[in-house]
Amino acid sequence: MSKVCLVTGGSRGIGAACIKEFAKNGYNVVINYVNDDLSANLLKTEIENNYKVKALIIKADVANEIEVKNMVEKVINTFGSIDILVNNAGIAIDTTLEDKTKENFRKILDTNLIGTFLVSREVAKYMLNKKSGSIINVSSTNGIDTNYPESLDYDASKAGVISLTKNLAKAYHPYIRVNSVAPGWVMTDMNKELDKDFIKNEESKILLGRFADPSEIAKVIYFVGVEASYINGSIIRVDGGENV
Ligand code: NAP
Repeated sequence: MSKVCLVTGGSRGIGAACIKEFAKNGYNVVINYVNDDLSANLLKTEIENNYKVKALIIKADVANEIEVKNMVEKVINTFGSIDILVNNAGIAIDTTLEDKTKENFRKILDTNLIGTFLVSREVAKYMLNKKSGSIINVSSTNGIDTNYPESLDYDASKAGVISLTKNLAKAYHPYIRVNSVAPGWVMTDMNKELDKDFIKNEESKILLGRFADPSEIAKVIYFVGVEASYINGSIIRVDGGENV
C-alpha cells in the first residue's frame, strides 16, 4: 500500500513543490488549502497525470479546530493512514510597524503557529497509534535571525514554530520524529509584491546570490521527513548561505 503525505498549504509555492516531490517518490498526497480552488484542482490533475499515485484535495483552514479534525478524519477514511505531515501553511501580512493591528497579528499567529499545533495534534493521534510517523514544520530563518522589525509578527510566529517543533519532538518520541526546515528567501507568491531593487539587495547578502526555487526546499523536506532517520528535534536552515 502506498504511503500517505499530507501537506498543509499544499496548493502553491513550497507546499506544491512538496506535493510533487512526495508524489514523485510514490506517496499518495493530500493537498490542503484554504481559498484558491483553482490552484488546488490544477495541481491534483497534474499529479494524477504525471505520477501513479492518488491526490486528494481538502479545503480547510488550519487555524479552525473543527475543519482540522474533519480534514484529518477525511484523510484517514480515504487512505487509512498518514505517514508524513508537512506543516507548511503560512501567511505574512506586510505593513509598517505603526500600521500593525491586533487582528492581523492574531491571524498570523493563528495560521502559522496555532495551525501547526492543531494539525500536528490531530495527526499525531494516528501516528502514535501505529507507532510511526514524521512531521516537518516549515518555519523560516525569520524565526532565528532578526532583520526587519516590520515583520516582527511573522518572525514571532516562526520562532514559535521552532519552539513547538522541539517540544513536539520530546512529546512524541520515540515514535514520531518532529523537525523543522527553515528556509531563507524563496521565489513564491508570498514574495511577488517585493520590488526589484529590494530583491537585488537581498540577493547580494546570500552567498549563492539568488532566492531559492521551491523545489530546492521540497527536496530537503523530503530528505528530513523520510530519509534522515536519525534527525529529530532539529531545525535545518536552507538559505543559500545567509548570515554566515
Ligand atoms: P504561498 O506561495 O503564499 O502559499 C501559501 C499556501 O498556504 C497556499 O497553498 C495557501 O492556500 C495556504 N494557506 C494559507 N493560509 C492557510 C490556512 N489558514 N489554512 C490552510 N492553508 C492555508 O507561500 P510559500 O511562500 O510557499 O510559503 C509556504 C511556507 O513557507 C509558509 O509557512 C511560509 O511562511 C514559509 N516560508 C516562505 C518563505 C518564502 O520566501 N517564500 C521563506 C521562509 C519560509 P490558498 O492557495 O488557498 O491561499
